[in-house]
Amino acid sequence: MNMETNHWVCMMCERDCSDGIHILSQFICTECEQDMCRTEVEDDLYDYFVSRLRSLWGEMMTLDPEQNGST
Ligand SMILES: [Zn+2]
Repeated sequence: MNMETNHWVCMMCERDCSDGIHILSQFICTECEQDMCRTEVEDDLYDYFVSRLRSLWGEMMTLDPEQNGST
């Protein structure tokens, strides 16, 4: 399929989603974003989110600022 529907793969749940937020090259669907907000620190899920986000922070560190925002 090569239609111009806006679907991305969520970095958290790895599902195809149309609604969510983009962080750098990653995408987090609305559901996971809300999950993150609800997740308590002592929750098992929290560790999962943190480990996922850690790779994102790593990407931020290596990011060339001039490339930020281009396509
Ligand atoms: Zn998700």
